[in-house]
Amino acid sequence: MKTQDYIKREEKFGAHNYHPLPVVLERGEGINVWDVEGNKYYDFLSAYSAVNQGHCNPKIINALSEQANKLTLTSRAFYNNVLGEFEEYVTKFFGYDKVLPMNSGAEGDETALKLCRKWAYEKKGIPENKAKIVVCEGNFHGRTITIISMSTDPDSYKGYGPYTPGFEVVPYNDIPALEKALEDPNVAGFLVEPIQGEAGVYVPDDGYLSTAYELCRKKNVLFIADEVQTGIARTGKLLACDHENVRPDILILGKALSGGVYPVSAVLADDDIMLVIKPGEHGSTFGGNPLAAKVAIAALEVIEEEKLAEHADKLGKIFREELKKIEHPMVNLVRGKGLLNAIVIEPKNEKTAWDVCVALKNNGLLAKPTHEHIIRFAPPLIITEEQLMESVEIIRKTLDEF
Ligand code: PLP
Repeated sequence: MKTQDYIKREEKFGAHNYHPLPVVLERGEGINVWDVEGNKYYDFLSAYSAVNQGHCNPKIINALSEQANKLTLTSRAFYNNVLGEFEEYVTKFFGYDKVLPMNSGAEGDETALKLCRKWAYEKKGIPENKAKIVVCEGNFHGRTITIISMSTDPDSYKGYGPYTPGFEVVPYNDIPALEKALEDPNVAGFLVEPIQGEAGVYVPDDGYLSTAYELCRKKNVLFIADEVQTGIARTGKLLACDHENVRPDILILGKALSGGVYPVSAVLADDDIMLVIKPGEHGSTFGGNPLAAKVAIAALEVIEEEKLAEHADKLGKIFREELKKIEHPMVNLVRGKGLLNAIVIEPKNEKTAWDVCVALKNNGLLAKPTHEHIIRFAPPLIITEEQLMESVEIIRKTLDEF
């Protein structure tokens, strides 16, 4: 079968809820992937930052296969001998009392919302069913009904109503708006992405997160950080909140906690918050299974052993400097932190970010537009400086074709 045959089969039998670039991948190693015709690419999406440790990282694959031969799933009806090891490791790694393991990022966010509401009624004393959670314009927290209820992007929410109430939207990176919203005594939490990834890599002003955190603290409002995309070394620190020394009350992790191998998400909080959920009140059949637990430990070990946060910080600076040197009428803006970056494309002769991504693919680099005019560049964090410079050359050469 050729590329077009694979694409046609997916179109015929699969739901049309994605619009992939026309490339069919069959193998990955490190920062590279190969298509079914044997062409090699630099992966500059990293599965939306889930593959920070590189494709098929040997240490993570070893952990997976060793555990897969022993025990994969018990459900939480019984204990397993690996979950506790993961819980101890991850809580010490990030400095929290407790963790609640789930699978997808959206489930992590849903868990955090439930925790926040329950805490509001049991600890803060908000009247039943009155708790509000403040969220930001342009947010992306996943695809469930409740999560899209707080989305401001019609692609996410339109046609899926009625929506879950209890959310108030404020502009992102706007402290006065947040301050005003927090005046309502029924506000229980503020849910925020430290950098808005899906919206197009919007980096807030320095001081936004730390000031927002302080405001929340003063009003006894939980600061909930969705670090599903920004966490695990992507932005040049272990967590993007670390750039401003903010320790979220509730921390949501996903994507790269899996090493790109097996879905794992996690919500971290201290006892005062986490223990409001009692046995039987929340869970997931797959959450906390031994396979996921072993994979997640290995994924975090790789981050630490290979010093990927420091590496992302260093290479991110070089990458942005190099991108800014590209003088091209279609490149409007370069922004990002660590190895989470984007260029804003100015359409030219009806050519858009999509056309640039197709041309990048033809030149051996995979990236995907977000919101029509933005291209995100997020390679696996194990990329070397030499590979990064080669990639910059591909980007430069591709833009020259327009
Ligand atoms: N939160 C953020 C910040 C994300 O970027 C994403 C996915 O892109 C999610 C949550 C949802 O994660 P998942 O697709 O694993 O449900």
